[in-house]
Amino acid sequence: MTSSKALVLLIGFASAAVAVERFEAVEPHMGTLVRIQLYAADEAAAAAAFRAAFARIEELDAALSDYRPDSELNRLCRARAGVAVRIGADLFTVLEASQKLAEAAGGAFDVTLGPVTHLWREARALRRVPEAGAVRDALARSGYRKLHLDVERRTATLEEPGMQLDVGGIAKGYAADEALAVLARLGIRCALVAMSGDLAIGDAPPGKRGWTVAAGEPARRLELSNTAVSTSGDTEQHLDAGGVRYSHIIDPATGIGLTNAPVVTVVARRGIDADALATAVSVLGDERGRQLVKAYGATVWSEPRP
Ligand code: ADP
Ligand code: MG
Repeated sequence: MTSSKALVLLIGFASAAVAVERFEAVEPHMGTLVRIQLYAADEAAAAAAFRAAFARIEELDAALSDYRPDSELNRLCRARAGVAVRIGADLFTVLEASQKLAEAAGGAFDVTLGPVTHLWREARALRRVPEAGAVRDALARSGYRKLHLDVERRTATLEEPGMQLDVGGIAKGYAADEALAVLARLGIRCALVAMSGDLAIGDAPPGKRGWTVAAGEPARRLELSNTAVSTSGDTEQHLDAGGVRYSHIIDPATGIGLTNAPVVTVVARRGIDADALATAVSVLGDERGRQLVKAYGATVWSEPRP
């Protein structure tokens, strides 16, 4: 008892005496710029930490990307319909969280919307709204109830041929969490990982109450530690056609990009939840969105698009 107390005191004293410096690194990953800020004892420690964190993000992209034909996610999509496929822990974690949210959100969040999101991706490139028939066909191949997970065996089964998963609404938040966890395992707890609009935040900088973060539109200044923040409604990703702005967030009820998408910001304990909730609230709207976020023990605010 006495000896363990003494040990704690000793550690506390030592860490207070170690001077730490702030370091920052930016790299492109997952189709966006990833910015990591951290406090480390010296440049060598910081460089090693950056390397490990970015490598973890790269590993997650290789598993979760729907752009990379060889990703684990796309390999799962190419498996025969109805066959249970054993998948890695990361893909399983993301799909499990996605399905839980799909249930809670009445289908407003749906990672089986791949056929529809890919159609709209093409539409953005062509600058033309997809044909109604194509939307109908893509919607018919979607639906979160057609994705089955088995926790014990860690398998996923796609019920029908032609299904496509797209975890773009949740993967960046998870990647931010995981990068932060890698840093913590290296002893760096004072860090912030920003995957564009998805932030995972560790301990406050030395002598500060939190990391100063500007989130939302118009931006609010927040001081945060040990939490996550996501803002959805990427103003870069939309299609303007016929005087209407279609968001890259799809309403699963219609297969159409949201046309009145607000800028939604969610603060949650973990990035995987903040990211997915921000997308779900965009679809659900203020009132139903608020209830959902409350059920997750998170907080939300949304503003009309400027
Ligand atoms: P950003 O990628 O700008 O951070 P989001 O986190 O809101 O934005 O994710 C949007 C992405 O999520 C889309 O590009 C698409 O891949 C996917 N998506 C679109 N609509 C939905 C939906 N209703 N449910 C789940 N994922 C969606
Ligand atoms: Mg999101």
